[in-house]
Amino acid sequence: MRAVIVGAGMGGLMTALALRQSGVFASVDVYEQTKVPSTAGAGLNIPPNGARICRWLGVDLDGGDSKGPDGVIDGGRAAILESTRQFNADGSVTKRPFDHVTAAGDGAGFHHMHRLDLLMCLYKRVSDFGIDSGAPCPIAVHMDCRLTQLRQTAGEVIATFSNGRTATGELLVGADGINSATLQLAWPNSRPKRWTEVTCFRGLIPRTGVASLRKANGNPLDHNPINSFSMDRHRADRSGATTYWVRGGELLNVWIAHYEPESAAFEQEEGDWFPVSQQEIVREVGEAFAGHPSRDDLIALSGAIVRPTKWGLYDRDALETWVQGRICLLGDAAHPMLPTFGQGAAQSFEDAAALASAFALHQRDVPTALLHYERVRHYRATRFQLGSKFAFDHLRAKDTAEQKALLERLDERVSPAFAHDKRGGEDDSWIYAYDARKIGSELPAKRLGPWDFRRTAKVRYGGIKLWMPANPAKGTRRVTREEVALHNTQNDCWIIISGKVYDITEWAPHHPGGAGIARMYAGKEATAEFGDYHSTEAVAHMANFCVGALVEN
Ligand SMILES: Cc1cc2nc3c(=O)[nH]c(=O)nc-3n(C[C@H](O)[C@H](O)[C@H](O)COP(=O)(O)OP(=O)(O)OC[C@H]3O[C@@H](n4cnc5c(N)ncnc54)[C@H](O)[C@@H]3O)c2cc1C
Repeated sequence: MRAVIVGAGMGGLMTALALRQSGVFASVDVYEQTKVPSTAGAGLNIPPNGARICRWLGVDLDGGDSKGPDGVIDGGRAAILESTRQFNADGSVTKRPFDHVTAAGDGAGFHHMHRLDLLMCLYKRVSDFGIDSGAPCPIAVHMDCRLTQLRQTAGEVIATFSNGRTATGELLVGADGINSATLQLAWPNSRPKRWTEVTCFRGLIPRTGVASLRKANGNPLDHNPINSFSMDRHRADRSGATTYWVRGGELLNVWIAHYEPESAAFEQEEGDWFPVSQQEIVREVGEAFAGHPSRDDLIALSGAIVRPTKWGLYDRDALETWVQGRICLLGDAAHPMLPTFGQGAAQSFEDAAALASAFALHQRDVPTALLHYERVRHYRATRFQLGSKFAFDHLRAKDTAEQKALLERLDERVSPAFAHDKRGGEDDSWIYAYDARKIGSELPAKRLGPWDFRRTAKVRYGGIKLWMPANPAKGTRRVTREEVALHNTQNDCWIIISGKVYDITEWAPHHPGGAGIARMYAGKEATAEFGDYHSTEAVAHMANFCVGALVEN
Protein backbone atom coordinates (compact mmCIF):
# COMPACT_ATOMS: atom_id res chain seq x y z
CA MET A 1 0.00 0.00 0.00
CA ARG A 2 1.00 3.63 -0.50
CA ALA A 3 0.75 6.20 2.30
CA VAL A 4 0.40 9.91 1.52
CA ILE A 5 1.07 12.35 4.35
CA VAL A 6 0.16 16.03 4.08
CA GLY A 7 2.51 18.19 6.16
CA ALA A 8 6.17 17.61 6.99
CA GLY A 9 6.00 19.09 10.49
CA MET A 10 6.87 17.14 13.62
CA GLY A 11 3.76 14.97 13.41
CA GLY A 12 4.01 14.28 9.66
CA LEU A 13 7.67 13.25 9.70
CA MET A 14 7.22 11.04 12.75
CA THR A 15 4.23 9.41 11.07
CA ALA A 16 6.32 8.71 7.97
CA LEU A 17 8.88 6.87 10.13
CA ALA A 18 6.23 5.00 12.10
CA LEU A 19 4.19 3.87 9.08
CA ARG A 20 7.36 2.67 7.40
CA GLN A 21 8.18 0.68 10.53
CA SER A 22 4.74 -0.97 10.48
CA GLY A 23 5.87 -3.08 7.53
CA VAL A 24 2.54 -2.66 5.74
CA PHE A 25 3.42 0.07 3.24
CA ALA A 26 5.48 -0.07 0.06
CA SER A 27 6.12 3.68 0.04
CA VAL A 28 5.50 6.78 2.14
CA ASP A 29 5.28 10.18 0.44
CA VAL A 30 5.15 13.40 2.47
CA TYR A 31 3.95 16.67 0.88
CA GLU A 32 4.96 19.94 2.52
CA GLN A 33 3.83 23.44 1.58
CA THR A 34 7.06 25.25 2.48
CA LYS A 35 9.98 25.40 0.06
CA VAL A 36 12.58 24.40 2.66
CA PRO A 37 12.30 22.80 6.12
CA SER A 38 11.35 25.60 8.48
CA THR A 39 9.39 26.34 11.61
CA ALA A 40 8.67 29.44 13.63
CA GLY A 41 8.90 29.69 17.40
CA ALA A 42 11.50 28.87 19.98
CA GLY A 43 11.57 25.94 22.40
CA LEU A 44 9.24 23.02 22.98
CA ASN A 45 8.89 20.01 25.24
CA ILE A 46 9.42 16.41 24.29
CA PRO A 47 8.39 14.68 27.50
CA PRO A 48 9.10 10.98 28.13
CA ASN A 49 5.90 9.79 26.44
CA GLY A 50 7.11 11.49 23.23
CA ALA A 51 10.82 10.72 23.69
CA ARG A 52 9.94 7.02 23.97
CA ILE A 53 8.55 7.08 20.42
CA CYS A 54 11.63 8.94 19.15
CA ARG A 55 13.95 6.30 20.60
CA TRP A 56 11.89 3.52 19.08
CA LEU A 57 12.14 5.05 15.61
CA GLY A 58 15.82 5.99 15.89
CA VAL A 59 15.30 9.76 16.08
CA ASP A 60 18.38 11.12 17.82
CA LEU A 61 17.12 13.83 20.17
CA ASP A 62 20.28 14.04 22.26
CA GLY A 63 23.11 13.94 19.71
CA GLY A 64 24.36 16.79 17.55
CA ASP A 65 26.63 19.78 18.06
CA SER A 66 25.04 22.17 20.53
CA LYS A 67 27.41 24.93 19.39
CA GLY A 68 26.59 24.37 15.70
CA PRO A 69 24.56 26.79 13.56
CA ASP A 70 20.78 27.05 13.21
CA GLY A 71 18.90 24.94 10.70
CA VAL A 72 21.46 22.21 10.01
CA ILE A 73 20.52 18.56 9.68
CA ASP A 74 21.95 17.15 12.90
CA GLY A 75 21.02 15.34 16.11
CA GLY A 76 18.42 17.13 18.20
CA ARG A 77 20.81 18.86 20.64
CA ALA A 78 18.21 18.55 23.40
CA ALA A 79 18.62 19.71 26.98
CA ILE A 80 17.40 17.18 29.54
CA LEU A 81 15.21 18.51 32.33
CA GLU A 82 16.57 17.91 35.83
CA SER A 83 14.11 19.74 38.05
CA THR A 84 11.23 22.19 38.19
CA ARG A 85 11.01 25.32 40.30
CA GLN A 86 7.83 27.26 40.83
CA PHE A 87 7.95 30.87 42.03
CA ASN A 88 4.65 31.82 43.57
CA ALA A 89 3.09 35.25 44.03
CA ASP A 90 3.41 34.94 47.83
CA GLY A 91 7.20 34.60 47.51
CA SER A 92 7.28 30.87 48.17
CA VAL A 93 9.29 28.60 45.89
CA THR A 94 8.41 24.97 45.19
CA LYS A 95 11.34 22.87 43.95
CA ARG A 96 10.92 19.41 42.61
CA PRO A 97 13.54 17.13 41.04
CA PHE A 98 12.33 15.45 37.88
CA ASP A 99 12.74 11.74 38.40
CA HIS A 100 13.16 10.22 34.94
CA VAL A 101 13.14 6.69 36.22
CA THR A 102 9.83 6.78 38.02
CA ALA A 103 8.21 9.28 35.67
CA ALA A 104 9.01 7.45 32.46
CA GLY A 105 9.57 3.93 33.64
CA ASP A 106 12.34 3.44 31.08
CA GLY A 107 14.47 6.56 31.42
CA ALA A 108 13.14 8.05 28.17
CA GLY A 109 13.92 11.50 29.55
CA PHE A 110 12.19 14.87 29.51
CA HIS A 111 13.73 16.74 26.60
CA HIS A 112 13.61 20.44 25.87
CA MET A 113 14.47 21.38 22.33
CA HIS A 114 14.64 24.23 19.87
CA ARG A 115 11.76 23.61 17.47
CA LEU A 116 14.03 23.82 14.45
CA ASP A 117 16.47 21.33 16.03
CA LEU A 118 13.66 18.83 16.48
CA LEU A 119 12.51 19.30 12.91
CA MET A 120 16.05 18.88 11.56
CA CYS A 121 16.76 15.73 13.55
CA LEU A 122 13.51 14.27 12.20
CA TYR A 123 14.65 15.13 8.67
CA LYS A 124 17.97 13.47 9.47
CA ARG A 125 16.28 10.21 10.37
CA VAL A 126 13.85 10.39 7.44
CA SER A 127 16.77 10.88 5.03
CA ASP A 128 18.16 7.49 6.16
CA PHE A 129 15.23 5.98 4.26
CA GLY A 130 15.27 8.25 1.19
CA ILE A 131 14.53 7.03 -2.33
CA ASP A 132 18.24 6.42 -3.00
CA SER A 133 18.85 4.58 0.27
CA GLY A 134 17.79 1.21 -1.12
CA ALA A 135 15.77 0.70 2.07
CA PRO A 136 12.42 -1.04 1.81
CA CYS A 137 9.46 1.36 1.97
CA PRO A 138 11.40 4.52 1.11
CA ILE A 139 10.22 7.89 2.40
CA ALA A 140 10.11 10.80 -0.07
CA VAL A 141 9.52 14.37 1.13
CA HIS A 142 8.15 16.70 -1.57
CA MET A 143 8.58 20.39 -0.75
CA ASP A 144 6.57 23.32 -2.11
CA CYS A 145 3.38 21.24 -2.35
CA ARG A 146 0.35 22.85 -0.70
CA LEU A 147 -2.74 20.64 -0.53
CA THR A 148 -5.66 22.23 -2.40
CA GLN A 149 -8.02 19.36 -3.31
CA LEU A 150 -8.96 15.92 -2.01
CA ARG A 151 -10.97 13.17 -3.67
CA GLN A 152 -11.74 9.62 -2.55
CA THR A 153 -12.77 6.57 -4.54
CA ALA A 154 -13.61 3.18 -3.04
CA GLY A 155 -9.96 2.13 -2.99
CA GLU A 156 -7.85 5.31 -3.14
CA VAL A 157 -7.41 8.90 -2.04
CA ILE A 158 -6.20 11.44 -4.59
CA ALA A 159 -4.64 14.69 -3.38
CA THR A 160 -3.95 17.69 -5.59
CA PHE A 161 -1.39 20.35 -4.69
CA SER A 162 -1.00 24.03 -5.54
CA ASN A 163 1.75 23.31 -8.07
CA GLY A 164 -0.56 20.98 -10.00
CA ARG A 165 1.03 17.74 -8.77
CA THR A 166 -1.18 14.92 -7.59
CA ALA A 167 -0.57 12.06 -5.17
CA THR A 168 -2.52 8.84 -4.86
CA GLY A 169 -2.50 6.42 -1.95
CA GLU A 170 -4.57 3.86 -0.11
CA LEU A 171 -4.17 6.06 3.00
CA LEU A 172 -3.93 9.84 3.41
CA VAL A 173 -2.85 11.31 6.74
CA GLY A 174 -3.63 14.99 7.28
CA ALA A 175 -0.74 16.18 9.47
CA ASP A 176 -1.01 19.76 8.28
CA GLY A 177 -1.35 21.56 11.59
CA ILE A 178 -3.93 23.82 13.21
CA ASN A 179 -4.90 25.44 9.87
CA SER A 180 -5.32 21.99 8.31
CA ALA A 181 -6.42 22.01 4.68
CA THR A 182 -7.21 18.30 5.04
CA LEU A 183 -9.75 19.15 7.74
CA GLN A 184 -11.28 21.96 5.72
CA LEU A 185 -11.53 19.84 2.56
CA ALA A 186 -12.76 16.60 4.12
CA TRP A 187 -14.87 18.15 6.91
CA PRO A 188 -16.12 21.37 5.28
CA ASN A 189 -18.45 22.25 8.17
CA SER A 190 -15.88 22.03 10.95
CA ARG A 191 -15.60 24.99 13.32
CA PRO A 192 -12.73 27.41 12.73
CA LYS A 193 -9.86 27.67 15.18
CA ARG A 194 -10.55 29.90 18.16
CA TRP A 195 -8.64 32.85 19.59
CA THR A 196 -8.22 32.07 23.31
CA GLU A 197 -7.59 35.66 24.47
CA VAL A 198 -4.16 34.56 25.67
CA THR A 199 -1.05 36.08 24.15
CA CYS A 200 2.51 35.08 24.80
CA PHE A 201 5.98 36.43 24.28
CA ARG A 202 8.53 33.89 23.12
CA GLY A 203 12.21 33.99 22.51
CA LEU A 204 15.70 32.76 23.28
CA ILE A 205 18.65 34.14 25.22
CA PRO A 206 22.19 32.83 24.54
CA ARG A 207 23.90 31.25 27.56
CA THR A 208 26.45 34.06 27.83
CA GLY A 209 23.60 36.58 28.01
CA VAL A 210 21.91 34.67 30.83
CA ALA A 211 25.15 34.43 32.80
CA SER A 212 25.61 38.20 32.79
CA LEU A 213 22.00 39.17 33.54
CA ARG A 214 21.44 41.94 36.07
CA LYS A 215 18.30 43.57 37.43
CA ALA A 216 17.63 47.21 36.53
CA ASN A 217 19.32 48.28 39.79
CA GLY A 218 22.49 46.39 38.84
CA ASN A 219 22.02 43.56 41.33
CA PRO A 220 22.22 39.91 40.26
CA LEU A 221 18.93 38.08 39.66
CA ASP A 222 17.30 36.48 42.69
CA HIS A 223 17.03 33.18 40.77
CA ASN A 224 19.26 33.08 37.72
CA PRO A 225 18.59 29.79 35.87
CA ILE A 226 22.23 29.60 34.70
CA ASN A 227 23.34 26.86 37.06
CA SER A 228 20.70 24.20 36.58
CA PHE A 229 18.72 22.40 33.91
CA SER A 230 15.57 23.52 35.64
CA MET A 231 12.20 24.47 34.20
CA ASP A 232 11.25 27.62 36.12
CA ARG A 233 7.66 28.79 36.34
CA HIS A 234 6.48 32.14 37.69
CA ARG A 235 2.79 32.68 38.26
CA ALA A 236 0.84 35.87 38.66
CA ASP A 237 -2.91 36.40 38.64
CA ARG A 238 -3.34 36.81 34.88
CA SER A 239 0.12 35.88 33.65
CA GLY A 240 2.58 33.04 33.72
CA ALA A 241 6.23 32.81 32.71
CA THR A 242 8.25 29.68 31.99
CA THR A 243 11.94 29.34 31.20
CA TYR A 244 13.96 26.26 30.27
CA TRP A 245 17.16 25.43 28.45
CA VAL A 246 17.32 24.11 24.90
CA ARG A 247 20.18 23.21 22.54
CA GLY A 248 22.24 21.41 25.16
CA GLY A 249 22.06 24.42 27.48
CA GLU A 250 23.33 26.98 24.94
CA LEU A 251 19.99 28.82 24.68
CA LEU A 252 17.42 29.70 27.34
CA ASN A 253 13.83 29.55 26.11
CA VAL A 254 11.57 32.23 27.61
CA TRP A 255 7.80 32.00 27.38
CA ILE A 256 5.56 34.61 29.01
CA ALA A 257 1.79 34.23 28.64
CA HIS A 258 -0.76 36.88 29.49
CA TYR A 259 -4.52 36.96 29.50
CA GLU A 260 -5.23 39.81 27.12
CA PRO A 261 -8.81 39.78 25.86
CA GLU A 262 -8.48 43.31 24.53
CA SER A 263 -5.71 42.32 22.11
CA ALA A 264 -7.59 43.27 18.95
CA ALA A 265 -4.66 42.37 16.70
CA PHE A 266 -5.20 38.68 17.37
CA GLU A 267 -8.96 38.66 17.70
CA GLN A 268 -9.21 39.99 14.18
CA GLU A 269 -6.89 37.22 13.02
CA GLU A 270 -4.32 39.55 11.54
CA GLY A 271 -1.80 36.82 12.14
CA ASP A 272 -0.64 34.31 14.70
CA TRP A 273 2.49 36.21 15.67
CA PHE A 274 4.61 39.28 15.03
CA PRO A 275 7.97 40.67 16.17
CA VAL A 276 7.97 43.06 19.15
CA SER A 277 10.53 45.50 20.45
CA GLN A 278 12.43 44.90 23.68
CA GLN A 279 10.91 48.10 25.09
CA GLU A 280 7.43 46.71 24.50
CA ILE A 281 8.10 43.34 26.08
CA VAL A 282 9.80 44.91 29.11
CA ARG A 283 6.90 47.32 29.61
CA GLU A 284 4.22 44.63 29.28
CA VAL A 285 6.03 42.14 31.51
CA GLY A 286 6.54 44.87 34.12
CA GLU A 287 2.80 45.58 34.12
CA ALA A 288 1.77 41.92 34.07
CA PHE A 289 3.94 41.03 37.06
CA ALA A 290 3.40 44.22 39.09
CA GLY A 291 3.85 43.36 42.77
CA HIS A 292 5.13 39.84 42.02
CA PRO A 293 8.44 38.90 43.68
CA SER A 294 9.81 37.67 40.31
CA ARG A 295 9.06 40.94 38.50
CA ASP A 296 12.60 42.31 38.38
CA ASP A 297 14.07 38.94 37.33
CA LEU A 298 11.47 38.61 34.57
CA ILE A 299 12.04 42.15 33.32
CA ALA A 300 15.76 41.37 33.05
CA LEU A 301 15.09 38.07 31.28
CA SER A 302 12.58 39.49 28.83
CA GLY A 303 14.82 42.45 28.01
CA ALA A 304 17.60 40.04 27.03
CA ILE A 305 15.56 38.02 24.51
CA VAL A 306 17.07 38.16 21.05
CA ARG A 307 14.40 39.09 18.47
CA PRO A 308 11.35 38.64 20.75
CA THR A 309 8.01 37.74 19.19
CA LYS A 310 4.42 37.98 20.41
CA TRP A 311 1.95 35.20 19.68
CA GLY A 312 -1.78 34.79 19.88
CA LEU A 313 -2.77 31.36 21.18
CA TYR A 314 -5.51 29.44 19.40
CA ASP A 315 -7.26 26.14 19.91
CA ARG A 316 -10.32 24.37 18.65
CA ASP A 317 -13.15 22.38 20.19
CA ALA A 318 -12.69 18.63 20.12
CA LEU A 319 -13.69 17.08 16.80
CA GLU A 320 -16.15 14.24 16.96
CA THR A 321 -14.24 12.14 14.46
CA TRP A 322 -10.78 12.20 12.90
CA VAL A 323 -11.45 9.62 10.21
CA GLN A 324 -13.34 9.78 6.96
CA GLY A 325 -12.96 6.81 4.63
CA ARG A 326 -9.24 6.48 3.90
CA ILE A 327 -8.39 9.91 5.28
CA CYS A 328 -7.38 10.53 8.89
CA LEU A 329 -6.24 13.56 10.84
CA LEU A 330 -3.20 13.54 13.10
CA GLY A 331 -1.39 15.96 15.43
CA ASP A 332 -2.51 19.58 15.53
CA ALA A 333 -4.84 19.00 12.58
CA ALA A 334 -6.85 16.63 14.81
CA HIS A 335 -6.40 18.18 18.26
CA PRO A 336 -4.71 21.59 18.46
CA MET A 337 -4.12 22.42 22.10
CA LEU A 338 -2.81 25.19 24.27
CA PRO A 339 0.75 24.57 25.46
CA THR A 340 -0.18 24.24 29.15
CA PHE A 341 0.75 20.57 29.35
CA GLY A 342 3.67 20.89 26.89
CA GLN A 343 2.11 17.93 25.08
CA GLY A 344 1.43 19.27 21.57
CA ALA A 345 4.35 17.57 19.85
CA ALA A 346 4.27 14.49 22.10
CA GLN A 347 0.61 13.88 21.30
CA SER A 348 1.38 13.96 17.58
CA PHE A 349 4.15 11.39 18.19
CA GLU A 350 1.73 9.22 20.14
CA ASP A 351 -0.72 9.48 17.23
CA ALA A 352 2.00 8.34 14.84
CA ALA A 353 2.93 5.35 16.99
CA ALA A 354 -0.68 4.27 17.50
CA LEU A 355 -1.45 4.60 13.78
CA ALA A 356 1.53 2.41 12.92
CA SER A 357 0.49 -0.17 15.52
CA ALA A 358 -3.04 -0.18 14.11
CA PHE A 359 -1.70 -0.96 10.63
CA ALA A 360 0.72 -3.58 11.96
CA LEU A 361 -2.31 -5.25 13.56
CA HIS A 362 -4.93 -4.87 10.83
CA GLN A 363 -2.55 -4.90 7.85
CA ARG A 364 -4.33 -3.89 4.62
CA ASP A 365 -7.72 -3.40 6.30
CA VAL A 366 -7.59 0.41 6.19
CA PRO A 367 -11.07 1.14 7.65
CA THR A 368 -10.47 -1.10 10.69
CA ALA A 369 -6.95 0.23 11.24
CA LEU A 370 -8.24 3.82 11.16
CA LEU A 371 -11.13 3.01 13.46
CA HIS A 372 -8.73 1.38 15.93
CA TYR A 373 -6.43 4.41 15.69
CA GLU A 374 -9.25 6.83 16.39
CA ARG A 375 -10.65 4.81 19.27
CA VAL A 376 -7.35 4.60 21.14
CA ARG A 377 -6.21 8.14 20.40
CA HIS A 378 -9.29 10.32 20.56
CA TYR A 379 -9.94 9.94 24.27
CA ARG A 380 -6.38 10.64 25.40
CA ALA A 381 -5.58 13.48 23.01
CA THR A 382 -8.93 15.16 23.66
CA ARG A 383 -8.30 14.94 27.37
CA PHE A 384 -5.09 16.94 26.92
CA GLN A 385 -6.80 19.30 24.51
CA LEU A 386 -9.61 20.16 26.91
CA GLY A 387 -7.45 19.98 30.02
CA SER A 388 -4.91 22.38 28.51
CA LYS A 389 -7.60 24.98 28.04
CA PHE A 390 -8.83 24.85 31.60
CA ALA A 391 -5.43 24.36 33.16
CA PHE A 392 -4.51 27.87 32.09
CA ASP A 393 -4.87 28.49 35.76
CA HIS A 394 -3.69 32.07 35.77
CA LEU A 395 -7.10 32.73 34.21
CA ARG A 396 -8.83 31.22 37.18
CA ALA A 397 -9.68 32.86 40.45
CA LYS A 398 -8.44 30.98 43.52
CA ASP A 399 -10.58 28.03 44.62
CA THR A 400 -12.97 28.89 47.42
CA ALA A 401 -13.30 26.65 50.47
CA GLU A 402 -16.55 25.37 48.98
CA GLN A 403 -14.86 24.45 45.69
CA LYS A 404 -12.00 22.78 47.52
CA ALA A 405 -14.50 20.64 49.41
CA LEU A 406 -16.09 19.66 46.10
CA LEU A 407 -12.73 18.88 44.54
CA GLU A 408 -11.92 16.54 47.39
CA ARG A 409 -15.04 14.55 46.61
CA LEU A 410 -14.16 14.25 42.95
CA ASP A 411 -11.41 12.18 41.45
CA GLU A 412 -9.54 15.04 39.89
CA ARG A 413 -7.67 12.73 37.54
CA VAL A 414 -10.88 12.09 35.68
CA SER A 415 -12.01 15.61 35.05
CA PRO A 416 -10.07 17.87 32.72
CA ALA A 417 -11.36 20.96 34.44
CA PHE A 418 -8.99 21.09 37.35
CA ALA A 419 -5.50 22.43 37.61
CA HIS A 420 -2.81 20.42 35.91
CA ASP A 421 -0.52 20.25 38.90
CA LYS A 422 -3.33 19.08 41.15
CA ARG A 423 -4.53 16.34 38.88
CA GLY A 424 -3.00 13.05 39.91
CA GLY A 425 -1.12 14.79 42.72
CA GLU A 426 2.57 14.03 42.48
CA ASP A 427 1.97 11.09 40.19
CA ASP A 428 2.40 12.13 36.56
CA SER A 429 2.73 8.58 35.31
CA TRP A 430 -0.59 8.75 33.43
CA ILE A 431 1.14 11.32 31.23
CA TYR A 432 4.74 10.19 31.04
CA ALA A 433 4.75 6.41 31.46
CA TYR A 434 2.19 5.97 28.68
CA ASP A 435 3.36 3.85 25.75
CA ALA A 436 1.33 4.81 22.68
CA ARG A 437 2.54 1.80 20.71
CA LYS A 438 0.49 -0.52 22.91
CA ILE A 439 -2.98 -0.35 21.42
CA GLY A 440 -4.23 -3.82 22.40
CA SER A 441 -5.27 -6.52 19.97
CA GLU A 442 -9.04 -5.94 20.18
CA LEU A 443 -10.86 -2.93 18.81
CA PRO A 444 -11.58 -0.89 21.95
CA ALA A 445 -15.08 0.30 22.80
CA LYS A 446 -16.04 3.77 21.66
CA ARG A 447 -14.85 6.17 24.31
CA LEU A 448 -14.99 9.75 23.20
CA GLY A 449 -13.38 12.29 25.49
CA PRO A 450 -15.81 15.10 26.18
CA TRP A 451 -18.90 12.95 26.06
CA ASP A 452 -17.36 10.53 28.52
CA PHE A 453 -16.38 13.33 30.84
CA ARG A 454 -20.00 14.39 30.91
CA ARG A 455 -21.16 10.93 31.84
CA THR A 456 -18.53 10.68 34.56
CA ALA A 457 -19.44 14.10 35.87
CA LYS A 458 -23.04 12.97 36.21
CA VAL A 459 -22.06 10.03 38.39
CA ARG A 460 -19.58 11.95 40.49
CA TYR A 461 -21.72 15.00 41.04
CA GLY A 462 -24.63 12.81 42.14
CA GLY A 463 -25.48 13.74 45.72
CA ILE A 464 -23.51 16.98 45.62
CA LYS A 465 -25.79 19.89 46.35
CA LEU A 466 -25.04 22.79 44.05
CA TRP A 467 -25.36 26.34 45.32
CA MET A 468 -28.78 27.90 44.71
CA PRO A 469 -29.62 31.60 44.44
CA ALA A 470 -32.14 33.03 46.94
CA ASN A 471 -34.31 34.21 44.04
CA PRO A 472 -34.01 31.90 41.03
CA ALA A 473 -34.29 33.73 37.71
CA LYS A 474 -37.49 33.50 35.69
CA GLY A 475 -35.90 33.45 32.26
CA THR A 476 -38.74 35.33 30.59
CA ARG A 477 -36.89 38.18 28.89
CA ARG A 478 -35.72 38.48 25.30
CA VAL A 479 -32.12 39.63 25.11
CA THR A 480 -29.93 40.78 22.23
CA ARG A 481 -26.22 39.99 21.84
CA GLU A 482 -25.54 43.70 22.19
CA GLU A 483 -27.13 43.71 25.65
CA VAL A 484 -25.21 40.58 26.67
CA ALA A 485 -21.97 42.26 25.59
CA LEU A 486 -22.58 45.05 28.12
CA HIS A 487 -22.41 42.56 31.01
CA ASN A 488 -18.80 41.68 30.42
CA THR A 489 -17.02 41.81 33.76
CA GLN A 490 -16.53 39.39 36.63
CA ASN A 491 -18.90 41.47 38.75
CA ASP A 492 -21.56 41.66 36.07
CA CYS A 493 -21.30 38.56 33.97
CA TRP A 494 -23.81 37.35 31.40
CA ILE A 495 -23.10 34.50 29.02
CA ILE A 496 -24.90 32.81 26.11
CA ILE A 497 -25.39 29.05 26.04
CA SER A 498 -27.40 27.39 23.28
CA GLY A 499 -29.58 30.39 22.53
CA LYS A 500 -30.26 31.31 26.16
CA VAL A 501 -28.76 34.12 28.20
CA TYR A 502 -27.59 33.50 31.76
CA ASP A 503 -26.52 35.93 34.46
CA ILE A 504 -23.81 33.92 36.23
CA THR A 505 -22.43 36.77 38.36
CA GLU A 506 -23.59 35.18 41.61
CA TRP A 507 -23.00 31.61 40.49
CA ALA A 508 -19.42 31.98 39.21
CA PRO A 509 -17.70 31.86 42.63
CA HIS A 510 -19.61 28.65 43.44
CA HIS A 511 -18.91 26.93 40.10
CA PRO A 512 -17.10 23.65 40.91
CA GLY A 513 -14.75 24.12 37.95
CA GLY A 514 -13.69 27.56 39.16
CA ALA A 515 -14.74 31.12 38.44
CA GLY A 516 -12.53 31.31 35.35
CA ILE A 517 -15.57 30.91 33.14
CA ALA A 518 -16.73 34.34 34.28
CA ARG A 519 -13.45 35.86 33.19
CA MET A 520 -13.21 34.05 29.91
CA TYR A 521 -16.76 34.34 28.64
CA ALA A 522 -18.31 37.39 30.31
CA GLY A 523 -20.53 39.08 27.71
CA LYS A 524 -19.96 36.28 25.20
CA GLU A 525 -21.05 32.99 23.71
CA ALA A 526 -19.98 30.01 25.90
CA THR A 527 -21.98 27.26 24.21
CA ALA A 528 -19.02 25.16 23.11
CA GLU A 529 -17.30 25.15 26.51
CA PHE A 530 -20.48 24.41 28.37
CA GLY A 531 -21.49 21.60 26.05
CA ASP A 532 -18.10 19.95 26.34
CA TYR A 533 -18.11 19.71 30.09
CA HIS A 534 -21.52 19.56 31.65
CA SER A 535 -23.98 16.90 32.69
CA THR A 536 -27.75 17.10 32.20
CA GLU A 537 -28.03 17.98 35.92
CA ALA A 538 -25.79 20.97 35.35
CA VAL A 539 -27.91 22.03 32.37
CA ALA A 540 -31.06 21.90 34.54
CA HIS A 541 -29.32 23.83 37.32
CA MET A 542 -28.51 26.67 34.93
CA ALA A 543 -32.24 27.44 34.65
CA ASN A 544 -31.86 29.21 38.01
CA PHE A 545 -29.73 31.86 36.30
CA CYS A 546 -31.55 32.22 33.00
CA VAL A 547 -32.31 35.82 32.03
CA GLY A 548 -34.17 34.80 28.88
CA ALA A 549 -33.94 33.80 25.24
CA LEU A 550 -31.34 35.28 22.92
CA VAL A 551 -32.85 37.21 20.04
CA GLU A 552 -30.74 37.83 16.98
CA ASN A 553 -31.17 41.22 15.31
C1 LIG B 1 5.35 28.39 17.70
C2 LIG B 1 4.88 27.13 18.28
C3 LIG B 1 5.34 26.75 19.53
C4 LIG B 1 4.96 25.56 20.09
N1 LIG B 1 5.44 25.22 21.32
C5 LIG B 1 5.15 24.01 21.82
C6 LIG B 1 5.68 23.58 23.06
O1 LIG B 1 6.38 24.30 23.75
N2 LIG B 1 5.40 22.34 23.48
C7 LIG B 1 4.64 21.49 22.72
O2 LIG B 1 4.46 20.35 23.11
N3 LIG B 1 4.08 21.89 21.58
C8 LIG B 1 4.33 23.12 21.11
N4 LIG B 1 3.77 23.52 19.95
C9 LIG B 1 2.89 22.63 19.26
C10 LIG B 1 3.68 21.60 18.54
O3 LIG B 1 4.72 22.18 17.80
C11 LIG B 1 2.76 20.83 17.66
O4 LIG B 1 1.73 20.31 18.46
C12 LIG B 1 3.55 19.72 17.03
O5 LIG B 1 4.55 20.28 16.22
C13 LIG B 1 2.70 18.80 16.17
O6 LIG B 1 2.29 19.54 15.11
P1 LIG B 1 1.94 18.97 13.71
O7 LIG B 1 3.06 18.28 13.05
O8 LIG B 1 0.66 18.27 13.85
O9 LIG B 1 1.69 20.37 13.01
P2 LIG B 1 2.75 21.46 12.62
O10 LIG B 1 3.98 21.40 13.42
O11 LIG B 1 2.01 22.74 12.58
O12 LIG B 1 3.12 21.02 11.14
C14 LIG B 1 2.20 21.11 10.08
C15 LIG B 1 2.98 21.08 8.79
O13 LIG B 1 2.05 21.04 7.73
C16 LIG B 1 2.41 21.98 6.76
N5 LIG B 1 1.19 22.37 6.05
C17 LIG B 1 0.18 23.14 6.50
N6 LIG B 1 -0.78 23.26 5.57
C18 LIG B 1 -0.37 22.53 4.51
C19 LIG B 1 -0.94 22.25 3.24
N7 LIG B 1 -2.13 22.76 2.86
N8 LIG B 1 -0.27 21.45 2.38
C20 LIG B 1 0.94 20.93 2.73
N9 LIG B 1 1.53 21.18 3.93
C21 LIG B 1 0.88 21.96 4.81
C22 LIG B 1 3.04 23.11 7.55
O14 LIG B 1 3.87 23.93 6.75
C23 LIG B 1 3.82 22.33 8.60
O15 LIG B 1 5.10 21.98 8.15
C24 LIG B 1 4.08 24.73 19.39
C25 LIG B 1 3.60 25.11 18.13
C26 LIG B 1 3.98 26.30 17.57
C27 LIG B 1 3.47 26.69 16.20
